[in-house]
Amino acid sequence: MQHFSLQLKTILSSLVLFSLFTACNPEKKTTETNTDVITETDSTAQMNTKKPVDIHTFAIPEEAKITHLDLKLNVDFENKMLSGVATYDIEVQNNIDKIYLDTRSLTIEKVEVDGQKAEFELANEDQNLGQKLAIPVTSQSQKVTITYQTSSEAEALQWLSPSQTAGKKSPFLFTQSQAILARTWVPTQDSPGIRFTYTAEVTVPKELMAVMSAENPQQKNDSGVYTFKMEQPIPAYLLALSVGDLRFQPIGERTGVYAEPSMISKSAYEFEEMDKMLDAAEKLYGEYAWGRYDLIVLPPSFPFGGMENPRLTFATPTILAGDRSLTSLVAHELAHSWSGNLVTNATWNDFWLNEGFTVYFENRIMEEVYGKDYAEMLALISYQDLKNEVEAMKKAGSGEDTRLKLDLTDRNPDDGVTSIAYDKGFYLLKLIENTVGREKFDIFLNQYFTEFAFKTTNTEDFLTYLDKNLLSKVEGSMQKINPKEWIYETGIPSNIPKIESERYDKAIAAATSWKEGTPAAQLETKDWAYQQWLFFLSALPEDLTSQQMEELDKQFEFSETGNNEILGKWLVKVAHNQYEKSYPQLRKFLVNVGRRKFLSPIYGELIANEKTIPLAKEIYEEAKPNYHFVSSSSIEKMLEGK
Ligand SMILES: [Zn+2]
Repeated sequence: MQHFSLQLKTILSSLVLFSLFTACNPEKKTTETNTDVITETDSTAQMNTKKPVDIHTFAIPEEAKITHLDLKLNVDFENKMLSGVATYDIEVQNNIDKIYLDTRSLTIEKVEVDGQKAEFELANEDQNLGQKLAIPVTSQSQKVTITYQTSSEAEALQWLSPSQTAGKKSPFLFTQSQAILARTWVPTQDSPGIRFTYTAEVTVPKELMAVMSAENPQQKNDSGVYTFKMEQPIPAYLLALSVGDLRFQPIGERTGVYAEPSMISKSAYEFEEMDKMLDAAEKLYGEYAWGRYDLIVLPPSFPFGGMENPRLTFATPTILAGDRSLTSLVAHELAHSWSGNLVTNATWNDFWLNEGFTVYFENRIMEEVYGKDYAEMLALISYQDLKNEVEAMKKAGSGEDTRLKLDLTDRNPDDGVTSIAYDKGFYLLKLIENTVGREKFDIFLNQYFTEFAFKTTNTEDFLTYLDKNLLSKVEGSMQKINPKEWIYETGIPSNIPKIESERYDKAIAAATSWKEGTPAAQLETKDWAYQQWLFFLSALPEDLTSQQMEELDKQFEFSETGNNEILGKWLVKVAHNQYEKSYPQLRKFLVNVGRRKFLSPIYGELIANEKTIPLAKEIYEEAKPNYHFVSSSSIEKMLEGK
């Protein structure tokens, strides 16, 4: 694969190939540029035998925990504010006198315990965790009720004006709670290891409709009041709400899509294979545990590809390519219904258990539905993505984070959202599959998803389970795989499986041929999958002349493609080579699309060059209102000091 030189590589790294599963959620963010050279230590970390404690919550679930939430919310678009009453069923152990909840940027008006007003304490703000809410309770206490309001600082909430939507008539709201942003719109025990069921009653302006990560309405009503029920216990990061002028269209018996009216038929067409994917997933790893599987297409400012909110995947409209080519994102989010939502990482240090399994599972679903050569391309993209990310992270001084098991002490869990959890995790599982054979591995995975359903697991427990139930039964497999090296050491182990892909080879051959002088018009590109175009673009030299850019664009119409993966990749080249003819498309794309995966590498190129920094700033000022906090904070970090 084409390597990017200089510092740009560190900016582009994780996104160089626009891998499909960067449809992950949250999406990998790019590693920031930093010229520091790191000294890598390859020491194997100690196995942690203690029960893992989630360092990103103030809650102490062993003492007092929530088990059910009843939420009443009023959605006020004018003031961009939610006012809520959150009533929790709680379980308190003997001799415990307080329950601790996480909050951030919330105004707590009142707290009651079993109907009696309680003297709560709200601690000073911790930079990473927010404010600890301490509520006095006894082991007899059953319910706490918190009356509160959100603020304009609520990082989970994205309020869109009508002009920022597809329909341009009504405002729109959506939430993004992962990793630890649920606490900015609901006071809660915000830890992946703490599960609760919920019911909700949400009041919205009468012309709008609300949906949640729960049993959802399929039609707008006249009252503007919607009720929800989530009977399966979920962690707080899967709490989700979206409000807008929405329509529903069924796809299969168990699947359907929500979108703004102007997007609904396009969306229904694009995702017509959802039912097939759901069947394929069930065939692989057992019954789908959540009832319906629907998907909502959000306005373009959604910062990720998708978010696996249970029963209702939140998705970016950038995957509406018109030809169903970008639906592996759906396979990814659907796979999370098992890995992540059903069996959940106990802490964000174990994030690879959520994402590595999901990328593996996504690959298997895509193989079932689209065939082996498709899955091979995905795996190959994964490999190159991983390789680039590891190099970039080492350069940026974060080589320690190339271990699967992370140490996010005193850090934001967003730091763990790199290609490592996704791609290195995927390859460890692929290696296990190759070593023990697919049949045995599938049996093992089925058993794993069944035994740990609605529970959490951590890296150490998984290793023990893997050894006991699989590796110890296949002679020599433990030595061959050496999972501890994958998990506790940095970099890419030498036993990483090699993937062959004919389609990849063809794309590289075409790029080589063009570099050697064959005109673009004579290249053999018939029937290429869009991934081959990504391989092709990546294999081109980094520096291209305007004439070369023009030749490629004329022949292959990159600037005009409806496939945002290809367009995003092309625009990185446009920015790098200052190809001004495509600046109108570049500007339009950056202003309209809020998906961080696309924004970071393009801004990265513009910011890396003194000449185009003013352009980056100018476009950012115009685009900023369309970006979610997740994206704008990443771009601002890149612009710092420029
Ligand atoms: Zn994911």
